[in-house]
Amino acid sequence: MRVVHTNSELAQAVAEARAAGKRIGFVPTMGALHAGHLSLVEIAAARAEFVVVSIFVNPLQFAANEDFGKYPRTLDADTAALEHTAANLLYAPNAEEVYRQANGRIDTSITHHAGRAGDNFEGAIRPGHFDGMLTVVARLFDLVKPDLAVFGAKDAQQLFLVRELAAQSYPGLEIIAAPIVREESGLALSSRNRYLTAHERIQADSLSLALRAAVQQSENGPAQALAAARDALAQEPAIRLDYLALVDKSTFEPVPEDFVGSALLLIAARVGNTRLLDNQEIDFR
Ligand code: AMP
Repeated sequence: MRVVHTNSELAQAVAEARAAGKRIGFVPTMGALHAGHLSLVEIAAARAEFVVVSIFVNPLQFAANEDFGKYPRTLDADTAALEHTAANLLYAPNAEEVYRQANGRIDTSITHHAGRAGDNFEGAIRPGHFDGMLTVVARLFDLVKPDLAVFGAKDAQQLFLVRELAAQSYPGLEIIAAPIVREESGLALSSRNRYLTAHERIQADSLSLALRAAVQQSENGPAQALAAARDALAQEPAIRLDYLALVDKSTFEPVPEDFVGSALLLIAARVGNTRLLDNQEIDFR
């Protein structure tokens, strides 16, 4: 695997791969890689002959009170982990490189705004987060020019908004969703899990327990499923819930009580100082 830090090296490597007739698969990340990220690389490699992974902690998607400064940065370990995958190129730029325009100016203004589907849930709790995320994703798409890009289902609202972005602005680009990778306990893997103490890890398991409780009640309809998840979360007083919601997978709008179709049960909660996200697809018929 080649490691590059500049846009010109990236462009050259991608152009060479394309000239050799290879499809370009892209996996954008913020690093601190775990098995969830590595699964995205393998999914990309199953469909593309040349896989680019990016590692960039994007300042535009963090609010002033968030963990941008202390977000884990582990480039050496990440590079070593990627060496064991099918990744062909690691692009690890700094912010000047990502946001440098053709005229040499660094421009960190927001170029993409999330529509209505970005207003609720993560969008309501983290104002500006999705605009910053979409701005960097579009910038990375422009730099990498991939044929396909893989995003984790774990960040369900992000995946939804990236699909909207691609449909509007990148018609030839295929967006692939990767299933959530979990610990044996059920805890969804996350770079932020490393902030959890051993005790908090056990408390954090109640998120996935709640999702499973909801699945078990799915035959009784959306209201029962939601109530089962709420009850399960209430068993663990250390969980501070940001939101629990059942949304239509195709619109990201909350479902009515008589909903039939594919829904996503979303949970966002804090355990200690760590914010955790999880979700589960549930089909109601
Ligand atoms: P991040 O580095 O946290 O921005 O995540 C980079 C990509 O990895 C995003 O598309 C995430 O949705 C995805 N991802 C993160 N955690 C997981 C997980 N546990 N399972 C599958 N994908 C994940």
